[in-house]
Amino acid sequence: MRDKPELDWFEVREFPHGVIGIGEPGHFEDVKSYLIAGNDLALLVDSGMGYADISAVVAAYTDRSVLLVNSHGHLDHIGDNWRFDRRWAHPGDLDRIRAGVPNERMQHFLAPDAFNRPIPPTLNPETFEIPGTDVERTIDDGDEIDIGGRVFTVLHTPGHSQGSISLLEEETGILIAGDTIYEGPLFSHREGGSARQYRTSLQRLAALIPQLSVVYPSHNRYPLEPSFIVEVRDAMEQIWDGREPDLTEDGAERFEFGSFSFTFRESWRNDP
Ligand SMILES: [Zn+2]
Repeated sequence: MRDKPELDWFEVREFPHGVIGIGEPGHFEDVKSYLIAGNDLALLVDSGMGYADISAVVAAYTDRSVLLVNSHGHLDHIGDNWRFDRRWAHPGDLDRIRAGVPNERMQHFLAPDAFNRPIPPTLNPETFEIPGTDVERTIDDGDEIDIGGRVFTVLHTPGHSQGSISLLEEETGILIAGDTIYEGPLFSHREGGSARQYRTSLQRLAALIPQLSVVYPSHNRYPLEPSFIVEVRDAMEQIWDGREPDLTEDGAERFEFGSFSFTFRESWRNDP
């Protein structure tokens, strides 16, 4: 990849069972996308910020045709969707994915202080936008993604957003958790989020722990041990039991718990 300096943007890590993490640590979001090749297809979970060509990284690791599945529709997960022909997502975030993100809404994510390493030479912050993309099909709870010799089950885990999913490979115990589980600021206060649904999703994921071997989150330190789900679930229960917020600001309440926090809208108990 040395002949394409913009690809230095990505940090690739190879994990057991052929899981390839494609990180973007040069940006404050520190988002991760995941590539797993089956016998027939390569599954790519999310397409990152779109600041450099993630499809070139994917092509360096697999010659299978790529099926892109979005963990949800937030901008840091759909940036390079347009580079792939086959795209699947949950209907809950489809409006966002179809709309894309215009340059003016990207400014916070393109400001000089958003980066901690040189920006890719092909990225122009004054014109960058995320094109809207449609999906080949929608996926919902219980659907199976069969990539040939490997099957991932879709778990609808809303809360962070309406269309948030997690992917479970039962044979290996791999859970790809999207933005439902990670170290750092977890939140449900943006449009489509729900603290109530988030609580239910965490209870559901915690119940899976006996069959999990590893958790792949979409941000920050990775991979995570399955027991981290318990910490996050228990923190959520403390909040519902009446724990006071550590900070109230801009119509949102933040609750701090060591390596992670939750931010909910102030009226979160009324969330649907
Ligand atoms: Zn998100």
